[in-house]
Amino acid sequence: MRRRDFLLGSAVVGTGMVLGPKTPGAREYSVSGKGETKMAFVQPPLPYAMDALAPFLSEEQVRFHYGKHHTGYFKNLNALVEGKPEADMALRDLIVQAPAGPLFNNAAQAWNHSFYWDCLKPQGSALGGALAAAIERDFGGLAKLRAAMSDAAVKLFGSGWAWLAADKQGKLQVLALSNADTSLKHGLEPILTIDVWEHAYYIDYRNERAKYVEGYWAHVDWDFANGCFARATA
Ligand code: MN
Repeated sequence: MRRRDFLLGSAVVGTGMVLGPKTPGAREYSVSGKGETKMAFVQPPLPYAMDALAPFLSEEQVRFHYGKHHTGYFKNLNALVEGKPEADMALRDLIVQAPAGPLFNNAAQAWNHSFYWDCLKPQGSALGGALAAAIERDFGGLAKLRAAMSDAAVKLFGSGWAWLAADKQGKLQVLALSNADTSLKHGLEPILTIDVWEHAYYIDYRNERAKYVEGYWAHVDWDFANGCFARATA
């Protein structure tokens, strides 16, 4: 059942990609379609079944968010880069280089969502390793980081993303960024993100963003975050 759901889900986006093992921090979200597909940028498969995050996020919530909104950003991005040199760039590099406007907005939204799905895991995972030590050093522990990032997410005016990000020395900070803006654009490696566009939670939570943000923490994949943190200082 789960497998069939996944196949149906991936057929919708038509990636034809094989879902490989999730390697923390290793994915670049910049799969080139040369020789395989006309699409320059390919939306990665959802790393779990559409209903795997319920009841935090319902199957319907994820189906719309992944299958309509996220897919839409990839479609827009591919239309914008068709026949242009940007079609052959790594998505991260394109985001850093692109001026404000539709190309940046759709490229960043495509990448941000792929990253968001990877931050989540149905059962979550335990925080440990170098990231746990850095969170203790820079925030005074996980509870305080969680409070700071939740506060940033809940208070962000309008649409945007709350980020935990690290500089090249591994110093952590929380950012509240509007619309498609991403810590990549600010030279900071993303470690975790919370999508606070209404489309991320409105089916399940209506206007109650704070409840959605509260539910997020039980499903954080800290192993993935640790991999991102390792990349920040590599
Ligand atoms: Mn979203």
